[in-house]
Amino acid sequence: MAGKQYNSVEMIKKLVSFDTTSRVSNLELIDFVADYLSALGVESHLIHDESGEKANLYATIGPRDVPGIVLSGHTDVVPVDGQAWDSDPFTVVEQDEKLFGRGTSDMKSFIAIALAMAPDFASTNLKTPVHFALSFDEEVGCLGAPLMIQKMDQFAAKPRAVIIGEPTKMSVVNAHKGVCSFFTTVHGLERHSSETHRGVNAIAYGAELVAFLSTLGEEMRDQHSYPESGFDPPYTTVHVGTMHGGTAQNIVPLNCTFSWEYRLMPGEDASEIRNRFQAHVDEVVLPKMHAVDTSTGIDTEVRAFVPGLAPEDGSPAEALVLALARKNTTEVVAYGTEAGQFQEAGNPAVVCGPGSIAQAHKPNEFIELSEVRACEIFMRRLLDEVCAA
Ligand SMILES: [Zn+2]
Repeated sequence: MAGKQYNSVEMIKKLVSFDTTSRVSNLELIDFVADYLSALGVESHLIHDESGEKANLYATIGPRDVPGIVLSGHTDVVPVDGQAWDSDPFTVVEQDEKLFGRGTSDMKSFIAIALAMAPDFASTNLKTPVHFALSFDEEVGCLGAPLMIQKMDQFAAKPRAVIIGEPTKMSVVNAHKGVCSFFTTVHGLERHSSETHRGVNAIAYGAELVAFLSTLGEEMRDQHSYPESGFDPPYTTVHVGTMHGGTAQNIVPLNCTFSWEYRLMPGEDASEIRNRFQAHVDEVVLPKMHAVDTSTGIDTEVRAFVPGLAPEDGSPAEALVLALARKNTTEVVAYGTEAGQFQEAGNPAVVCGPGSIAQAHKPNEFIELSEVRACEIFMRRLLDEVCAA
């Protein structure tokens, strides 16, 4: 065993030092992890994106033919642009029993604590394998993990549990909503505003579509509510976040764009709202636009399509993580994670990690050292577990 050793805090400092904002490459971090694991005799599989600039990493310690435990985290972080930081976001500052830095809570600490334990996992004769699954582009719509999830069965047996270490303060989360987001552009036809009948008003048709989305949102609220689910609110929400269009008061607007999303209750059909929106476009709005000019149109681009995490109450995966975290009950959260993507592919998944989502994405993001210690204890219990069975 030749490589440098890191304790949890040293490893957190190391991982935070790589600027892995989603828009840039994460390869420096991935190469560091691959080298670190390689020094422990652990082989890493890299699964690159099309550009070759980013990669997922999947590595296995222990037998490959036994269902194991996956420790999963995203390596990317949100931008620091425009945020008022008191220190360099990519240099961890330790102060008041906290570690400050971008990604300390969301979610490099979980990855770092798991990696700091890798020498212990690697030097033990594991009966149950432990896998590291590191993704990219989580913060921009969970775009990276599916490439890895698709291939992981080639590297090792299907896992018995995937632990996604997003910040839950080490609570065990077994359900979250899905997130599907879109960007729609209405292409109209410009005319002088005195000639509305010869133009195609992109804003007016855009507004019609926004109103349609509001109707769908009301329908979800009124007819598809699940008060027992624990979610707040307990139904799929439909939301329009931005809308832009037009250039001047006296011009029939050429373009109108709007961004929208729905946050889907787990178990609901992820395509339904998107399909109904598209049917409204095709059957109601486009015919009116084309009646004036067939060069007009409406495009919708998918920005994110992340399934929810459906609770599997009492499942072995949930029971295992509850035991490791010494918790009796599971919780639900409002934010999306990669857990739903793992689950959709048949891998039982729960969310449990150190730090608080309240600190995520903010300036002066931090993690409490007590959270780091709690996660270390969790990992030690996991080590006992994978040695024994
Ligand atoms: Zn995250």
